[in-house]
Amino acid sequence: MIRTGYHARVAAAREAEQRSMIEYETTGECRMTFLRRQLDDPHIAGPCGRCDNCAGARFTATVSATDAEAARTALAKPGVEIAARKLWPTGMAALGVPLTGKIPAAESAGTGRALGRLTDLGWGTRLRELLADGTPDQPLPEPMLDGIVKVLANWGWEQRPTAVVSIGSHTRPGLIADAARGIATIRRLNHLGAVEPTFPEQRQAPRGNSAQDDLPHPDVPHAGRGARGGDGAAGGGPLLRPVSISPSTTC
Ligand SMILES: [Zn+2]
Repeated sequence: MIRTGYHARVAAAREAEQRSMIEYETTGECRMTFLRRQLDDPHIAGPCGRCDNCAGARFTATVSATDAEAARTALAKPGVEIAARKLWPTGMAALGVPLTGKIPAAESAGTGRALGRLTDLGWGTRLRELLADGTPDQPLPEPMLDGIVKVLANWGWEQRPTAVVSIGSHTRPGLIADAARGIATIRRLNHLGAVEPTFPEQRQAPRGNSAQDDLPHPDVPHAGRGARGGDGAAGGGPLLRPVSISPSTTC
């Protein structure tokens, strides 16, 4: 009988909450006052002066063509910038590479670009599907290659890259290699092939700023400053280094 009483009280409380929500929607009273009363706030000072009821501000659901176009342009803006890493990842010593601490400016990679964030309205859904755990490795879908090409075209290079090198991936070797080939072909860059990881696949969850989380080996040239191709195939120019970053939020 006690349980029945308890359940009846919970049901009554829920129904009262639902009535309050409907009342909140239609009330002409100060909304802050309304909410504070709902929360049994003993210090209600009076109308807030800022809510729509106090200030008399009313907004329609209609969007002007200008605003819609501005939103469309913002969403379609190609690419997301990725700040260059400032510190060497931890755990480099475990890979036989004695590098720790701050990355010297001369050795720093340039600012990178990602096609989009996994949370983006624009590319997010397609990127999440492509990079989902259950999705098999596959060639880069053509619309995404087109998207990447647009990102590259809008990059604003100090110096145009001369070559592309991909970083071998344990989970998506086909995708990354295909992306590198596609970029090289369309942008008419020298395709230098792939640099394969020299350490085994990690099965545990990524731990953040760890070398084992990062496929790029420090011997791999970075895109941007301090990343010259040296003696040959890249012609001494900057390199592009396609890599998918997952499960973080950019790809
Ligand atoms: Zn108010």
